[in-house]
Amino acid sequence: MEKYRALVLFGAPGSGKGTQGKFLSKVTNHLHISSGEILRDLPRDSELGKLFHGYMDKGELGPDDMMIEVFKEYIENLVSKGKYDPENQLLMLDGIPRTVPQVKLLEALVEVEKVVFFDVGSKEALMERISKRAAIEGRADDTSMSILEERMNVFEGKTLKVMGAYPKEKLITINAAQGPLFVLKDVLNHLTPLLAR
Ligand code: ADP
Repeated sequence: MEKYRALVLFGAPGSGKGTQGKFLSKVTNHLHISSGEILRDLPRDSELGKLFHGYMDKGELGPDDMMIEVFKEYIENLVSKGKYDPENQLLMLDGIPRTVPQVKLLEALVEVEKVVFFDVGSKEALMERISKRAAIEGRADDTSMSILEERMNVFEGKTLKVMGAYPKEKLITINAAQGPLFVLKDVLNHLTPLLAR
């Protein structure tokens, strides 16, 4: 099997990787895949949904192997419905991989070409952004301070290590403390040759 080609959009909760993923999916032919959105869409009364919503409600990560399985099935379903053409489209992964074991499990499926790190710098700035987003979107895991603290701890404890699991040449760091359009401009400065292919 050919591996799916992908970019990893990487950053803390609130770093804007989802916003950039959405922008990029509008101005390119490539596909933005948010693991959080996939999981939030799992019906709460299904076996898998019950399990993952339980983790999300606490701000913890779901099990690595099951996460990769859900991802794999989601992508295969897109392919079978003709919504994703692996030959011509890149996946822009937002929220996955989130742990070093996920990096390893994904290697069997996905060829990661670049890792784009959205660097906001301070935790306070991230928390402020998420509080604003909570007022607009009302996501339960954004609204509760204790869940938010837990997600930040998970990011610092487990997810940051993901960056070190990829070769340095693949890493692009973007100043994500700027406004969204300035971030987009910097991303395009780095990635236009890859995205325009
Ligand atoms: P954010 O980046 O703002 O924290 P996401 O929408 O990416 O939010 O993720 C929301 C929740 O979904 C996470 O807190 C976690 O419980 C679950 N989740 C998302 N992606 C993964 C993943 N790759 N592995 C395990 N759990 C995940």
